[in-house]
Order: sequence, then C-alpha cells, then structure tokens
Amino acid sequence: MSRKNFIAGNWKMNTTADQARALAQEVVAVVGQVDDVDVAVCPPYTNLATVAEVIKGSNVKLGAQDVHWEPKGAFTGKVSCDMLKNVGVTYVIVGHSEQRSYFGETDETVNKKTKAVLAADLLPIVCVGETLEERKSGSMDKVIDRQVRGAFDGISAQDAEKCTIAYEPVWAIGTGETASPEQANQAHVFIRKIVSELFGEQISNIIRIQYGGSMKPDNAKALLAQSDVDGGLIGGAALKAGDFAGIVQPK
Ligand code: PEP
Repeated sequence: MSRKNFIAGNWKMNTTADQARALAQEVVAVVGQVDDVDVAVCPPYTNLATVAEVIKGSNVKLGAQDVHWEPKGAFTGKVSCDMLKNVGVTYVIVGHSEQRSYFGETDETVNKKTKAVLAADLLPIVCVGETLEERKSGSMDKVIDRQVRGAFDGISAQDAEKCTIAYEPVWAIGTGETASPEQANQAHVFIRKIVSELFGEQISNIIRIQYGGSMKPDNAKALLAQSDVDGGLIGGAALKAGDFAGIVQPK
C-alpha cells in the first residue's frame, strides 16, 4: 500500500507575525512546489492569517496547533474550528504531548477535539506517544493502545480515514534523541494494528502515521524509508526552512 508522505511543521510558541511571514516565505521558496509529499506548517494562532496569505497559491497547507471542541461562547482564551477554518486552516494538531503534559489534555478531550475537527471538515493530526518511564516500565503498548482507542472512540470509519496519526515518543520530542527507524516502525506497525482492529484493514492501510521526535534532515531519510512511517511532525527543525526542506525531500 503506498501512502503519500505528509510532513507538517509544528512551530509551537515561536515566531512573531513578522518572523512567521519571513519563515513562511522561505518555506514556500524551498518546498512550495513539491507535489509528491503533502506539506503543512502550523504556526501559532496569531500568525495563521499572515501565513495563510503567504502560502496562497503554493502547495503548502496551513495547520493549527490545537482547537477547542465547543463551537463558540464563554471559553476565554480558546479558539473554535470555525475560526480556524475561516482563516484558511486545513489541518489541526490534537493531543500533542505538550498539551497532554502541561495543559491537562486527556484522552477524553483529544476525542472531543478530534470529533469537532472532523465535524468542521478539517483534518486532525492526532498525537500519541509514550514517556520514557512508560517505555522503560514496559507499559508503552498499553499507553499507546489507550491513547489511540480513546482518540477514536465513537468516530466512524469514514471519518477515521481522514485522520493522520502522529507517533511522538515523548522522550524524543525536543531532546535531540530520536527513535531508531526500527523503534519508530515497530510503534507504527502496532498503531496500524489497533486502527485495523477499530476500523478494518482497508482503513488502516489508508491512514498515514507520522513520526515526530527530533526528526532532522540527517535522520529523515532512514525514518521515512520504513514501511509504516508515512511522514513526520517536525518541531525544532521546522523553524529553519532549509532543515524543513531537507526533511520534505531528504537526500
Ligand atoms: C513536536 O513537537 O511535535 C516535535 C516532534 O518536536 P521536535 O521535532 O522538536 O522533537
């Protein structure tokens, strides 16, 4: 089964509007015409409109880093799916490990967000991954199983097909530590098996599973060569257009 690779840059809480405009311009210059890989950038909320303007007419799509599941109302500090859609967002990251560990994200809120994103005709990137402690104690499979089943609870196969899953071992995010290609692939195969149990083999073969965790130009090729690694969710290396391009088209 051949799946088109999908590389998304998660800019996290980096870039002012001016910096975002400049970075987006550089990204468009280096990967704006790539069509054999899907490419997206996910700037902070305040810079979505700015980046949308810059990437217009290129193949680079816009993603958001989070969303609230309610459509509107008294939810100070939150942003809805409609608001994201209205500024040109296509993808929404949900359940990032930083949301889970610093901001109280749970499997239940990931599920609510995933459903809201799908209902708004946006495309979720659902993040899962174990901590170092969980890996060392042997509970990695259990944790990932819980996170995947939790995220997709009550979601139809038809909707599941539109989702991307990002496997992001927490111990590899922003640490410079990368899962070996074999470690990453093993986790991806495991995740695909869960998806197959939930939605059938056909859907499990369609869904893309990105790897995230210190992916860089010099390790991207080996990771992306794995059978079940279908792209990457890139943090640090997405802040330099040259590095990002080196992951989109690794040498
Ligand atoms: C991420 O935050 O999704 C991520 C993978 O970060 P980094 O590439 O910096 O490890």
